[in-house]
Amino acid sequence: MDAPLIRLRGVNREYPSGEGVLRVLKDIDLDIGQGEFVAVMGASGSGKSTLMNILGCLDRPTSGSYLLDGREVARLGAGELAALRREVFGFIFQRYHLLSEMTALGNVEVPAIYRGLPTQARRARARELLDRLGLGDRLGHRPGQLSGGQQQRVSIARALVNDARVILADEPTGALDSRSGDEVLAILERLNAEGRTVVIVTHDPKVAARARRVVEIADGRIIADRRTEAPPAAPALAAPDSARAAVPVLGRLAEALRMAVLAMRAHKLRSFLTMLGIIIGIASVVSVVALGEGSRQRVLQNIAGLGTNTLQVFPGRDFGDMRSGRVTTLVTADGAALARQPHVASVSPTVSSSQTLRYGATEASAQISGVGEQYFDVAGVRLTQGRGFDESDVTAMSQNVVIDDNTRNSLFGDGPALGQVFMAGKVPLRVIGVAEVQSRGPGGSTSLTVYAPYTTVQARYLGSTSVSGLTLRVADEVDMALAEQMVTELLTQRHGSKDFFIVNNDQIRQTITATTQTLTLLIAAIAVISLLVGGIGVMNIMLVSVTERIGEIGLRMAVGARRGDIRAQFLIEAVLVCVIGGAAGILAALGFGLAFERLSSDFTLVYSPLSMLAALASSSAIGLVFGYLPAVNAAKLDPVNALAKG
Ligand code: ADP
Ligand code: MG
Repeated sequence: MDAPLIRLRGVNREYPSGEGVLRVLKDIDLDIGQGEFVAVMGASGSGKSTLMNILGCLDRPTSGSYLLDGREVARLGAGELAALRREVFGFIFQRYHLLSEMTALGNVEVPAIYRGLPTQARRARARELLDRLGLGDRLGHRPGQLSGGQQQRVSIARALVNDARVILADEPTGALDSRSGDEVLAILERLNAEGRTVVIVTHDPKVAARARRVVEIADGRIIADRRTEAPPAAPALAAPDSARAAVPVLGRLAEALRMAVLAMRAHKLRSFLTMLGIIIGIASVVSVVALGEGSRQRVLQNIAGLGTNTLQVFPGRDFGDMRSGRVTTLVTADGAALARQPHVASVSPTVSSSQTLRYGATEASAQISGVGEQYFDVAGVRLTQGRGFDESDVTAMSQNVVIDDNTRNSLFGDGPALGQVFMAGKVPLRVIGVAEVQSRGPGGSTSLTVYAPYTTVQARYLGSTSVSGLTLRVADEVDMALAEQMVTELLTQRHGSKDFFIVNNDQIRQTITATTQTLTLLIAAIAVISLLVGGIGVMNIMLVSVTERIGEIGLRMAVGARRGDIRAQFLIEAVLVCVIGGAAGILAALGFGLAFERLSSDFTLVYSPLSMLAALASSSAIGLVFGYLPAVNAAKLDPVNALAKG
């Protein structure tokens, strides 16, 4: 005769207890053949459940041999044990162990998910089983909405969904009234008649009487083994062929995602509070980066008017030099000399003088800016009416001027400006063009500016050829730093000492960019800290959640979940919480930006898609990193312990 389906030899199970060990099972020898119906009886605490757990590969013997189909189970790894629980055994527990968040149908599907059965096939199978057990109209009910007997029938359907050959029922009727209990027993008898091996633990002699073999245990030893009937000629129920089917990893991941969504929905407030840390962290990172980018662009825009290939030369040692007003060595001739250099494209001297403007009865004080004809191009001043002055205006010291919009408003109001003549000090000036207001500098937009040829300002107001500045446009292709050096050398030579300073717009731009980059880095560092705090919050809650759902984890393992499945479930849950939190954080930041723009126009927030992508990526990374420990903790749990604590 072949080896029986199950063969235990000298099996011991010991638990450490105080100094010594507690021997719960002692030298158990037991053979169970294919297709038998065995009742295990014994007093409470005699070791029945321990034996069942070992039979069902939920637990391992401390010593001894367990051959299943001739294979030594003691030598199998955790993954192979999970496969046996998934494909060979179907467990039925006294307390049903249904997942309360899922419907009857969903509960029955769980073992099939871990086996990798496609959704349609698995749903059809679960429905058919529930139908056969008289629950066809309760598919969408949750365990809380079902009676004890109905719940136990759901758990029987779950045990059968992978076509288990061996049904292990640990006091399945213990919590049921006698009528429901009878129903359950009838179902088990039917399953046995189909060729399935059934092992049932019971206290009830009436139940035992319906089995064909009764094994009695007392204090961890088998004290009696009676057959009331000869074992049936094993109708060999073949292992289901789809058991070897390849398991689609993606499908299992999708299921893990569904589980995570279910778990989050079941604890909405807690999930939200967990997310809050991530939401705040991501929202602040994204808005601060947007604010930094906004101010950077604004500053750059302000200096962009001057172009980045211009150098400005001013008298004195630096801005704010008290003597610069008296330094008169920077003269028009310097400009002419510079203009002859090959690396200089054009030179526009600037001089200025404050004068009182008069037109009819209107008076206003204004700044007369003496500039060259190229100034409008070089400085990016846009004309809205008329024209700028040309070379002949400059050489002829003409009294043609361009006024800015503020001046036009003050002097002429809504009337025509072009061609009008007004007085500036004692000099009559004629308007040939109107320019946009240059808003550079604080309060710059409210002062009045009149642009006149610099020669005119020098001759009529200043009476000298010294200038208040030279604006140079450097030839294309010439390196700015090099040009600056050459200008410095030339002017130092002409003046005999370095009594001027040069402002390099390109350098300013670089400085601003570098400064904002440093600031952004600094803020990013703070943001990373806040995200870390958020991540630790996630880890904390996930650890609590693992403890809270320990029974669920045990049950999932009992029906065949691999360690990887459990790990994936909790990891995905953590990542999901973080990604949703991250997305909410981005939305919050966008809303914040909108509100900010409404309230004040002084700041602009410029959002870059890159920073948002980075925010999403980092929130998933946080989920992975901080979800890892809880997930590993969950996967490390011992199925029997987890089930007992659940
Ligand atoms: P039964 O199912 O027959 O009522 P069990 O198999 O559950 O009994 O338990 C048998 C004995 O083993 C009991 O005395 C129990 O206290 C002990 N026991 C069960 N599980 C553990 C464990 N994880 N650690 C220590 N002792 C245990
Ligand atoms: Mg028990």
